[in-house]
Amino acid sequence: MSIVMKPSATKGELEEVIRRVKALGLGTDVSSGEFQTVIGVIGDEKKLDFDQVKLMPGVYDAIRIQVPYRLVSRSYIPKDVVVKVGDVSMGGDSPPVYMCGPCSIESYEQLYRIGKVAKEAGAQVLRGGAYKPRTSVHSFQGLGDEGLEHLQAAGRDLGLPTVTEVRSETEVEIVAKHADIIQIGARNMFNQDLIEATARTGKPILFKRSFAAQIDEYLSFAERIVANHNKNLLLCERGIMPLGGSFKPQTRFTLDLNAVPILRRETPFPVIADPSHGTGRRDLIAPMSRAAIAAGAHGLMIEVHDRPEEALSDGAQALLPSQLAGIIRTCNLLHKTIDESETPFSSDLGDGKDGHR
Ligand code: PEP
Ligand code: MN
Repeated sequence: MSIVMKPSATKGELEEVIRRVKALGLGTDVSSGEFQTVIGVIGDEKKLDFDQVKLMPGVYDAIRIQVPYRLVSRSYIPKDVVVKVGDVSMGGDSPPVYMCGPCSIESYEQLYRIGKVAKEAGAQVLRGGAYKPRTSVHSFQGLGDEGLEHLQAAGRDLGLPTVTEVRSETEVEIVAKHADIIQIGARNMFNQDLIEATARTGKPILFKRSFAAQIDEYLSFAERIVANHNKNLLLCERGIMPLGGSFKPQTRFTLDLNAVPILRRETPFPVIADPSHGTGRRDLIAPMSRAAIAAGAHGLMIEVHDRPEEALSDGAQALLPSQLAGIIRTCNLLHKTIDESETPFSSDLGDGKDGHR
């Protein structure tokens, strides 16, 4: 449920509504817009008498939100959310953001070297993994805390905000101390304790969709971030499982480009696409980057390495620095060409399910 307050509602009236909701053991999230304040109800809202709430002083309306994810829905926050990190704005009408760097941080020199060319090519955020989620215990697991030091130093020296993955709850504090944006990776999308602990830092979160999650499920887990009072949320489509069975996939994952406009329509939060993990192939990064921006992505996460044959992880999908400037240039041009006001994501275009068979 969303409780919409009248523009004239007093602070006391707002507090009284919050008190009433909390008295039932429910939580609240308050969203103050330019013209109105909306209270999002967290928990089993059946406990709340809808009609009575509507009659409370200062209340304009109480709206039941039909989707399982209420706080990340456009019904709760109608206007695009812009997430800011340093001088970089992400989402809404901001120009596309490019988060680039190696899969793994291997040394300060490696990160700085790659970050420098990425910045010259137009990247605004430096990425690099310090705590790596790996399938095999025999693979490189990341430099850990030492990698975080390199990330912070390289970000500072290059004048770029940084993003890196947090892999477990015990790392939340140190990752929050060293990075500007905290990434929750695809393998941890279902880890509710990690999500909530990360949300409580208040830092921007790049929340990746699992390769095995439906969009509804993904948004239900994203809901936990806003339920913990963190609206610095960046959604990220990074590819889903390719078809199995006897069909031999050509790509590591399938970048689900349908998800981009669906997420844009369902939620006000910035949507980032990751064509590196979404394809697993260097040669597909340029076309999939263009496609993602054309589909409405607010930005891209692209892995870059200048010596992919020596990379300690994901060398096959690392873009060469020389390829990055061209991709960014074309994507910026594409972004300018597309006039979203023709088909705004924030308006009701129907749920697209009518013709679904
Ligand atoms: C990464 O960004 O390096 C990464 C491991 O991503 P994902 O969680 O999408 O696999
Ligand atoms: Mn990677």
